[in-house]
Amino acid sequence: MAELAGAVIVVTGAGRGIGRAIVEELGAGGAHLVVNYAKSAELAEDAAKRLREAGGRAVAVRADVSDPNQASALIDATLAEFGKIDVLVNNAGVTVDRALKNLTIADWNAVIQTNLNGYFYTLKAALPHFIQQKSGKIIQVSSFVGKMGNFGQANYAAAKAGIIGLTKTAAIELARYNVTVNAVCPGFTETDMYTQVPEHVKEQILKRIPLGRVGTSQEVARAVRYLIVDGDYITGSALDINGGIYM
Ligand code: NAP
Repeated sequence: MAELAGAVIVVTGAGRGIGRAIVEELGAGGAHLVVNYAKSAELAEDAAKRLREAGGRAVAVRADVSDPNQASALIDATLAEFGKIDVLVNNAGVTVDRALKNLTIADWNAVIQTNLNGYFYTLKAALPHFIQQKSGKIIQVSSFVGKMGNFGQANYAAAKAGIIGLTKTAAIELARYNVTVNAVCPGFTETDMYTQVPEHVKEQILKRIPLGRVGTSQEVARAVRYLIVDGDYITGSALDINGGIYM
């Protein structure tokens, strides 16, 4: 069982959506948070301010994690602020949805660069600190789409499947340093990303979810908290939080 109070946790893409819910959930447990953002400065600063007003420690840090130098600077900024890093939550993600026949090379690269390469860049930058500390947890937000595929999301599905492969390999390699690495695989979750889905598609989606509704960001955040607090003997897993859309 790990202590959340005082743990230093970096969450990428945390100004809004699932990342925002994760920092709120972990902040409520007393964690010290780095609220990363790329574009949503106001939202990220607001999240950090609210966490501080509630008695916690939190800073918003701008870094486009699809750029390896900025991803590395994010970890450096965390160490400068808090002196250590206990948990890395890779969450930042984008979509560029098109059927394969219309998908351009630029569409492919944009999604792979942020959603897969970006996860590697932050993980790689944090790695020496976890190894030296001989403890740490890495949580990677993947998606059910990485397990089952989805029409119009070849780039996104490839990135999300890649995250699962990265997670399992890192789990094998880092276990000797007492570092666990797990993925969470949300199903459709009520955020800006889901809002972009056309209404007629949403109607079809709901019919495919056995529990009959989309998930909330808070439900994903609580799973992340579980892995951090109670997940000492869990590594290399890809935990489904998806209402049963994929089993
Ligand atoms: P969202 O509401 O669209 O938010 C995306 C987040 O990613 C924003 O905070 C954004 O920050 C950040 N981001 C994007 N590119 C970035 C970059 N290059 N560097 C740093 N941050 C970047 O999406 P969400 O639904 O919360 O998604 C969060 C994660 O959950 C993603 O990995 C997504 O694939 C995954 N997921 C979502 C669903 C769903 O149905 N919503 C389902 C399964 C998995 P800025 O605004 O600052 O750019």
